[in-house]
Amino acid sequence: MRKPLIAGNWKMNKTVSESVEFAREFVGKVSDVNDRDILICPPFTSLYAMREIFKDTGVKLGAQNMYYKDSGAYTGEISPLMLKDVGCDYVILGHSERRHIFGEDDNLINEKVVAAVSHGLIPILCVGELLEDREAGKTFDVVGNQLERGLKGISSKDNFVVAYEPVWAIGTGKTATPELAEEVHSFLREKLASLFGKEKAETVRILYGGSVKPENVNGLMAMKNIDGALVGGASLKVDSFVKIVKFGR
Ligand code: PEP
Repeated sequence: MRKPLIAGNWKMNKTVSESVEFAREFVGKVSDVNDRDILICPPFTSLYAMREIFKDTGVKLGAQNMYYKDSGAYTGEISPLMLKDVGCDYVILGHSERRHIFGEDDNLINEKVVAAVSHGLIPILCVGELLEDREAGKTFDVVGNQLERGLKGISSKDNFVVAYEPVWAIGTGKTATPELAEEVHSFLREKLASLFGKEKAETVRILYGGSVKPENVNGLMAMKNIDGALVGGASLKVDSFVKIVKFGR
């Protein structure tokens, strides 16, 4: 049985004081939730202050990116050691905005995934096709390759999460239907089984991301292979994120 994971990706939004205000209100509203994992990935600048508020609550903290070296002359980068130190349990890697705006490729993302795991961070490896890939019938090829390349060197003993985020659904208001998302999730689980064995594949959480909202989360979460959500826009307001966290209730 896979425990659902609902993760908020704030992207480049919220100052420290806005983050703290959100966190204080949010923890009070989800204190009765323990049958699912809750994660927020704010900007780096808010991590320390939010750690203090999430301490002794069930809400986990994650980062939206990192570099794969521990330290050194890498201006502007953040290391896995630093993320552990500031209280992160998870790190989102290979988000489509990192791939398409900042040019990250599968090799770099793989270095980051391996570094995250070796430092005890749980990577959330994002995969997803462009609209043109889908229209050309290449969805499975694209996401299958991203998965396999992103997880090179990872073993069945390692803890990781996968997020399927069709690029055409991110921030556009267009959600994949539950059936369409399930088709890709089920393909990804089969691919995980071919890479790590069926037993491991059954334990890996595969999140759906792409315009998840309170209105569509129940339909998505009813699917057999959808184990949670990676939520952008709708995680920025306490009330909408609380409703998503409390899906099905
Ligand atoms: C995301 O940032 O991963 C995402 C899915 O964004 P949105 O929910 O806004 O589409």
